[in-house]
Amino acid sequence: MGLETPEKPAVKVDPFAKLPTSKRLNVIEEFEKRAQAKPTLNVCIVGHVDSGKSTTVGHLMYLTDTVNQRSMRKLEHESQKIGKGSFAFAWALDETEEERNRGVTMDIGTAHFETEHYRFCILDAPGHRDFIPNMISGTAQADAAVLVVDGSTNAFESGFDAGGQTKEHAILARSLGIQTLIVAINKMDMVQWSQERFEEIKEKLGAYLYQLGFKQSNVAFVPISGFHGVNLYDNKEPALTQWYHGPTLTEQLDRLPPSIRAVEKPLRMRVTDFFKGGVGGSGGVSVAGNIEAGSIQVGEQVLVVPGNEVGYVKTLLVNDESAQWAVAGDSVLLTLSNLDILNLSNGCMICSGSNPVPLTSLFRVQIVVFDIRIPITPGYPVILHHGSLDEPASITKLISIIDKATGEVKKKNPRCITRNMTATVEVQMSQRAIPLETFKDNKQLGRIVLRRGGDTVAAGVVTEILTYGS
Ligand code: GDP
Repeated sequence: MGLETPEKPAVKVDPFAKLPTSKRLNVIEEFEKRAQAKPTLNVCIVGHVDSGKSTTVGHLMYLTDTVNQRSMRKLEHESQKIGKGSFAFAWALDETEEERNRGVTMDIGTAHFETEHYRFCILDAPGHRDFIPNMISGTAQADAAVLVVDGSTNAFESGFDAGGQTKEHAILARSLGIQTLIVAINKMDMVQWSQERFEEIKEKLGAYLYQLGFKQSNVAFVPISGFHGVNLYDNKEPALTQWYHGPTLTEQLDRLPPSIRAVEKPLRMRVTDFFKGGVGGSGGVSVAGNIEAGSIQVGEQVLVVPGNEVGYVKTLLVNDESAQWAVAGDSVLLTLSNLDILNLSNGCMICSGSNPVPLTSLFRVQIVVFDIRIPITPGYPVILHHGSLDEPASITKLISIIDKATGEVKKKNPRCITRNMTATVEVQMSQRAIPLETFKDNKQLGRIVLRRGGDTVAAGVVTEILTYGS
């Protein structure tokens, strides 16, 4: 069978057909004005279960005054009632009853706070093994990541060695394109604020991170206690001030590089959640998600892909505040009218009507293979994760093995691919075509993760789309 000539779908809908010229905004101009105000950075918190991610973020919000003192006291009281007093700060973020009882973060919680230069949207990704798919959708949206490690005796080691998630999370963050990492070495109170312990972890973990391809200048290590609030916002712990003179976690976050947003590209919004009824009890359908590229404004017509159904943007919330427009990098909640909720599905996308995202079921990817036991051979079944979407697929063809150091092809048409290799393969979706773009066209949408039997097999970037259409 020859390959179909790749062709992008034809023009579908004029986005501005229902929006009089007088009411249209020049979103790029508006964005430039807003950019002079405080830009938003999306930061994902990753790390081994119980390393203290939720506690740290909860405490950061408290210190930067987002969770006010009154609600913090209420949480303290509630958590003491069920005998889990130490989880009070984590509760600022972990919201569902099930999470409170289990003491683990299951879905991605978002939190907001401000520093001198940025507004932060913090995505608290779950660390528990079963929840890695959720974590993937979390990092896929992030500009940078904070990797929390438990510095207490033996705890760092069990998170770092086989079975721990510290390495897997670092690989995922890297494979999904995150370049800047803040490593928060937590629970320093448990090791008497020992400089020696800090240096030991920094050296071990640092060597590993640089080997993964993180640049040394893009990785910072900060000793903290999430629970006691030390070196989060300020450092008043005498034992720590003795030897640590670097930035606090907040200062380090404030030093992150600004993110470059693909605002001039066609609209691509990944849908993470949807429900019946509009904002403020109005009619329509509410759709939550993150804008990966382009811009959107109230009054615009958009397409839902797959399905190519048209919706009309009635209202728009950006970071929980009412807005007239939003751009790449913003987390939004839209109310769409003229659209049946049945047209929305998990993993669908909201796109520009004039330039929708292509649908494909056959494409090439360059992957980094993880520590797998069974080598990959043609026909290898996987679950493909792309943002919040997960769908069965298989690796149908092995194209080449690539030299990690030089990026050159080492071997063409290999018979199998084994652990830790970098390779190019063809992936065929088993059930339906999915919205996808090449990494070259769209850095956010061009990344995928392949898992099998609950383990992450490989992660990589889409290099070529081979067939278009459903
Ligand atoms: P997560 O699973 O990474 O989100 O971890 P949590 O934030 O739920 O914390 C797990 C446990 O570690 C809780 O009992 C916290 O109170 C505790 N913990 C978190 N940070 C610290 C810290 O800085 N020092 C100490 N001693 N305990 C901490």
